[in-house]
Amino acid sequence: MPIRHSTKRLLSKLAWHAYNIYRKGLDYDTQLSRTFEILDAPREVIEAFQAQRLERLLQHAYQTTPYYREFLRPAHSDISRIPTLEKQDIREQLDRLYSTAFTRKQRIRNATGGSTGTPLTFYQDRNYWNQRNLSVYYFDQWAGWNFGEPQLIIWGTLADLGKDSHWKHQLNNFWRNQYWLNGFRLTDTAMSAAFEKMNQCQPQTLLAYPSSLYQFAKFIFENGLTSLCKLKGIIASAEMLHPHYRTLAEYVFKTKVYNRYGSREVGLIAMECAEGRMHINCRDLYLEIESPDPYTEPGEILITQLNNYAMPFIRYRIGDVGRLSDEMCPCGNDLPILAELLGRTTATFRTRSGTLIHGGYFTQQFYDIDGVTQFQIIQESLKHCVLKVVTDEKWTEATRRFLVQSIQDALGMTVVVTVEVVDEIPLPPSGKREYTISKVSGDVEDL
Ligand SMILES: [Zn+2]
Repeated sequence: MPIRHSTKRLLSKLAWHAYNIYRKGLDYDTQLSRTFEILDAPREVIEAFQAQRLERLLQHAYQTTPYYREFLRPAHSDISRIPTLEKQDIREQLDRLYSTAFTRKQRIRNATGGSTGTPLTFYQDRNYWNQRNLSVYYFDQWAGWNFGEPQLIIWGTLADLGKDSHWKHQLNNFWRNQYWLNGFRLTDTAMSAAFEKMNQCQPQTLLAYPSSLYQFAKFIFENGLTSLCKLKGIIASAEMLHPHYRTLAEYVFKTKVYNRYGSREVGLIAMECAEGRMHINCRDLYLEIESPDPYTEPGEILITQLNNYAMPFIRYRIGDVGRLSDEMCPCGNDLPILAELLGRTTATFRTRSGTLIHGGYFTQQFYDIDGVTQFQIIQESLKHCVLKVVTDEKWTEATRRFLVQSIQDALGMTVVVTVEVVDEIPLPPSGKREYTISKVSGDVEDL
């Protein structure tokens, strides 16, 4: 390996350490080793830790959150008595969900388009983010990631498209030793350059949206290219990992794909191990399945986030369906197993020039817009796109123009965008809401 590669790894490793000390405090090393200890512990230790954290959260919610005070009693913190938290509740009761123990300044704003096309704004605190990152460090190591090791990331970013701070993004990539392929806009030129970069920089891991990973693998396969990169593993996150995505990526990159399940609202929920089981992150959350028998009948997943004290998420209906498994995993890890995860799907759009646009491009721009409470984008043809919106009193003509412009920026200026203001966007027969639909994708399997 050329000396500059090993030097860069060392510098990046030191930069990671400095960053974590700055973010998490001088006892960061202790926090990291405690995180690893708990997640590697025997089942009874994990469960005792989780029960204690849950009890503390419920007490905190009772004492400082007007919303939860209605459902909890001080000496009677039975979680099953608390109603499930719906996205609608968060939208309507946001002011009552805040903990009064946090000032406005201590709350960190976050938002998502979610799997339902319903924009949602919520708040987290600094400790939530610190704990979330510690867990990501632990679980990503299952796929071969480590501090300072080069990583290729195929993820959506608005930075490359000139809509966000470009230099900040570049600086972060440099010290983190990361290389990016923008998953929002997968052109042949960009994929070709990323492939060259891979062979040159020898990333140890790849982190990607499953649909973008599939497009990249397909590009390499169809062009008869051979990857010279010896990847330790691939982390696929934020969407459904379809079996054919996995098969092609594992064939092309000659390594295992690890499915990581998480969300902006509650962090990392479960991660696949070397034996192909999804282990639940019981250190950070308490997961329930809404089903008469969660071990045999799949049901909706409810998440209680154990670290976000600024705005407790208790029994949050995340919008995915799953089932539990009672088997002990041969990998040796004792965290319980989530089986049959049925999650979200994202469409891939296609422009007239053949460029692929990830559905997340639209979601990332639309989730935070005043006046829109729900949306759905349907690419009817290469020339025509329909945007359905459910609006509120903040909806304006300027918002309409912005949405049309964003779609045309991605799909082409000549594309006709019809905006339909509707009362509701009905659920499809599958019961699974889709906010991005493309009827022109050349690859039917991607729909
Ligand atoms: Zn396992």
